Amino acid sequence: MKDGQTFSSPLQGGSGKEFLGIHFVNCGTYGRIYKNRQGTAYTGHCPRCMHPVRVRIGPGGTGNRFFKCFCP
Ligand SMILES: [Zn+2]
Repeated sequence: MKDGQTFSSPLQGGSGKEFLGIHFVNCGTYGRIYKNRQGTAYTGHCPRCMHPVRVRIGPGGTGNRFFKCFCP
């Protein structure tokens, strides 16, 4: 008898915290940027130099989940 097997799925939908992975090449680090409220772009900044990053979301955009950023 199998009983009490419960899985909680991390994919709940709702207030989705979608993010992209960013490789900050010049700073040699990785980070994440999160979708804005309007759902039009992912915005964030480099954790080392605070350089702002913005990836627009649009029709025909890439399905890329990982981007490179070259901080100045
Ligand atoms: Zn940087």
